[in-house]
Amino acid sequence: MEKNTKKYLILTYGCQMNVHESEKLAGILESNGYEVCTDATLADIVVFNTCAIRENAEEKIFGNIGELKNIKLAKPDMIIAIGGCMSQQKNYADEIMQKFPYVDIVFGTHNLADFENLLKEREKSGKKISRICEDETISLRDQMLISRTSGVNAWVNIMYGCNNFCTYCIVPYVRGREISRPVQDILKEVESLLKEGYKQITLLGQNVNSYSGVDSDGNVSSFASLLKAVDSFDEYKYRIRFMTSHPKDLSSEVIDIISKSKHICHGIHLPVQSGSDNMLKAMNRHYDINRYKSVVTEIREKMPDSELTTDIIVGFPGETEADFEKTLAIMRFARYMQIFGFIYSKRKGTPAEKMENQVDAKTKKERLSRLLALKNEIINEKTAKMLGQTYEVLVESYDKEKDVLFGSLDSGKTISFKGTENCVGEFLDVKVTEVRKSVIYGEIVQKDKIETYSKKNFKYPIEVSILPKEKNAMKILRENKRNKKINDNKKSKEN
Ligand code: SF4
Repeated sequence: MEKNTKKYLILTYGCQMNVHESEKLAGILESNGYEVCTDATLADIVVFNTCAIRENAEEKIFGNIGELKNIKLAKPDMIIAIGGCMSQQKNYADEIMQKFPYVDIVFGTHNLADFENLLKEREKSGKKISRICEDETISLRDQMLISRTSGVNAWVNIMYGCNNFCTYCIVPYVRGREISRPVQDILKEVESLLKEGYKQITLLGQNVNSYSGVDSDGNVSSFASLLKAVDSFDEYKYRIRFMTSHPKDLSSEVIDIISKSKHICHGIHLPVQSGSDNMLKAMNRHYDINRYKSVVTEIREKMPDSELTTDIIVGFPGETEADFEKTLAIMRFARYMQIFGFIYSKRKGTPAEKMENQVDAKTKKERLSRLLALKNEIINEKTAKMLGQTYEVLVESYDKEKDVLFGSLDSGKTISFKGTENCVGEFLDVKVTEVRKSVIYGEIVQKDKIETYSKKNFKYPIEVSILPKEKNAMKILRENKRNKKINDNKKSKEN
């Protein structure tokens, strides 16, 4: 007889922090007897873990919640829950409940650990619940079960919240002030992940450089000391990454420790946001471009093999052509391996929303396309130089259909190559044999190892993520709707 297990679907929007928090939500759902599915029409609960960083993210989420209306009408017992940064914003919970009366639960970022209670309350009473807490109890959140979903990768929160109040950013308002986890809790989690076989651990925080957790002697530890400690599990082969760094707080001590470490990657994400001092001041970033350049120079001097990635906003209020050209100049100076370029979008409740001199949409678009053109030029040039070089690659996933492996270099750059799925989780030397613009392909140098690995017990899920990407889940939903319409039409014609 077929098992009648309740099914859940989580749609995750936004950053790595949200992906990890979805793993915590999945942990709650699985411990309550739910199992994951990819099709909203089969789900007994659909959770939207939302993002508020940009206006278009919100529009997309609202559109996707709207698409669930008919499923909910046909399946009234299905629970729809909306959580994350969008819900935490002032008055948004009421707006969501009004706009989408079929939504059952709205919860904020600080109610994550309470989600199990909200779920039980809804299941028991059948009543709608809206719970947005202004404060959070961090210890509760750290005790949550986690259903890890990303193969060889594991994320570890080292801190929550942000104290920086960049004038364009909603994060401090929805995630609260910085709270650092104690050192021992982090080390315990990292060690147990290594024991379980995870190979790449990313330390997460909005501004990891200002980490200030308490150590076992009761002293406040710096990020540098924490890095040194997580680098010390020498009985394992692993990588440590961290995000996100703030250029004002990335100290020489941290750069020193990374350069001398065994396990910490030399690929560093260092958001610059703008190349103009005027813009950096207006953004409240607390560094000028000379400070940023000196950090880049120090990284390059201490780690010649390092690669930088960055975030850039174009069209911030008051940005002139001269300001924008300074942004292009810093791109040429830092020669980033990846740039996440965004058009400035107003966020309700932030100081920048009310700034005069908002840049018009046409200029913003034109600047973004110039930024992207330069980005591609730089990345393509850098990638071309990789041809023929051999790199140590962590094999992260296997695509069964294409029969190809995907792995990451220390810099974070992805490479694909032939091999068997048993290579997933191994560190292999891979030679770059083909470069197509910024995409690289390679071949395993130690071919004899493939034979060895094919005998090992396969450990990692072939699917890298069991939490379906929001895009895929919505695609499945739309396909199902289309097929249903076709079938209904067919049936009505037959009748
Ligand atoms: S550092 Fe600035 S951009 Fe980053 S989360 Fe904090 S306020 Fe937002």
